[in-house]
Amino acid sequence: MYKVLVGEFIDDNAVKILKAQKNIETDIKIGISREEILDIIENYDALIVRSVIKVDKELLDKGKNLKIVGRAGNGIDNIDVKEATNHGVIVANTPDSNTVSACELAIALLLATARNILPADRYLKSGKWEREIFVGNEVFHKTLGIIGLGRIGSLVATRMKAFGMDLIAYDPYISDERFRRYECKKAETLDELLEVSDFVTIHTPKTAETLKIISYDQIKKMKDGVRLVNAARGGVFDEAAVAKGLESGKIASYGFDVHEKEPRSESPLYAFDNVITTPHIGATTHEAQENVGKQVVKQLINGLNGEIVETAVNLPTMGREEFAVIKPYIQFVEKLGKIYYQVKKGAIKFVNLIYYGNISSQETAIIDSSFMKGLLYPVLKEEVNYINSLVLADKRDIKFHSIKKEEKYYNYPDVIKIEVVDEKGEKFSIVGIIGGNQEERIVEINGYPIDVVISENMLLVENNDVPGVIGNVGRILGEESVNIATMHVGRKEDSAIMLLTVDDVVEEKSIKKLEEFEQIRKVKYLNL
Ligand code: NAD
Repeated sequence: MYKVLVGEFIDDNAVKILKAQKNIETDIKIGISREEILDIIENYDALIVRSVIKVDKELLDKGKNLKIVGRAGNGIDNIDVKEATNHGVIVANTPDSNTVSACELAIALLLATARNILPADRYLKSGKWEREIFVGNEVFHKTLGIIGLGRIGSLVATRMKAFGMDLIAYDPYISDERFRRYECKKAETLDELLEVSDFVTIHTPKTAETLKIISYDQIKKMKDGVRLVNAARGGVFDEAAVAKGLESGKIASYGFDVHEKEPRSESPLYAFDNVITTPHIGATTHEAQENVGKQVVKQLINGLNGEIVETAVNLPTMGREEFAVIKPYIQFVEKLGKIYYQVKKGAIKFVNLIYYGNISSQETAIIDSSFMKGLLYPVLKEEVNYINSLVLADKRDIKFHSIKKEEKYYNYPDVIKIEVVDEKGEKFSIVGIIGGNQEERIVEINGYPIDVVISENMLLVENNDVPGVIGNVGRILGEESVNIATMHVGRKEDSAIMLLTVDDVVEEKSIKKLEEFEQIRKVKYLNL
């Protein structure tokens, strides 16, 4: 008999499913105190939480019988996943359960702003009857620009197609096939989408690239009278810029569910009648609550019965000795994976992860997943984890080949080579090794031999192989107060690359200064 503790609210129907299990005894203790949970947790095999109960080392140490922790919801900030993995505890969340709700809220905001529903309602209830001031817009035959064609963006596309809208989408990280499937014209650039859209809705995660992706410069490129919606993440639209656009009349309306600061009680945007805003209620529906509950309970039951936990976010366990051999590679390849999207844009066609030498005889499935987690992380952020990374890659039409070769590469005993080929057939490759002191080294990039111990902050410079470039890179970075820790050069025909490790984040303005130097072809900052 397994014992499950439900420590935070889940839907009644989900509780019923749990209680109907013959091999599970369920205790419901919503709002349980920290002290009590620490006292009793050793009696339980599984725990269900939302965002309040902290599942940290202390709780996991005490929960000697815990096998699985279910998070009813998406974010896992309150769970120390690494510690859970160390304790052999599976952590599972419910990532797909609220996508329809979020999509429908975005559409509700779009339609409500287009037809002035809220101001008209307020006017009428204040005792006035007026129609002329509430002239709105139809969506029929208008162009909807969708930024981010992932789960929610594609649901919006399907539904707004039925309203007769013309669709254009910007998502540089998905295949052409996905644009065709959702009948969206592919915008090669964000500007292309902004210039033709009557309505713009965003459905991306918040990343370094999407933070303030809509600034005032972007707004200026939009059609006059454009209508905007944000039910994705606060901060992807610059609120001050949107306010400026509303003030000038450039933007006809703004509907938003997510805020730069949450929770919040004031904003310059509240002053506009043509703004509708909600307090991050995208997932707040009975159906989403029920889905969340049912999904978390299903994962728990599967986990306790030794079946596959589809939404697990941490690593599967394996033998200690086997694990010790591959452990250094798990984090290393994740860092190597992160490099690609920081250097290149565009949809990936296929990836080869090639193991050379001794490592090729090991069980490397976790390394494969870890690499893919790193590759997708700059684009999907916390949506991607060790368990789902290969599934997500497959869904995004990225073909993944894990290849094992017993032969040596150069003369190293163990080598990992990564080849990423994009839709245009362009190849990007990196070769890495773990050195004798466990240091993580890159020994080749795009065919350029090099030898660099990687660090958190790096700069990749491509330049013409002529005298004076190294000196100028050093000078410019010095003027920009960027401290260089190491610098390595690789040469091929008339071109060269430099890989620098630096002490700090390198800002965009410093990168621009380097790029102004005529012998430099490209500069990319890498955060690993
Ligand atoms: P998803 O991971 O399925 O899709 C995100 C898409 O954005 C991906 O296809 C990715 O390629 C694309 N993308 C990444 N960077 C981009 C860029 N720079 N330009 C254009 N496209 C880019 O995510 P999802 O489940 O569809 O969720 C979308 C957003 O909605 C997330 O931010 C999520 O947190 C948010 N969300 C909000 C609520 C709410 O309550 N309002 C509820 C659920 C989800």
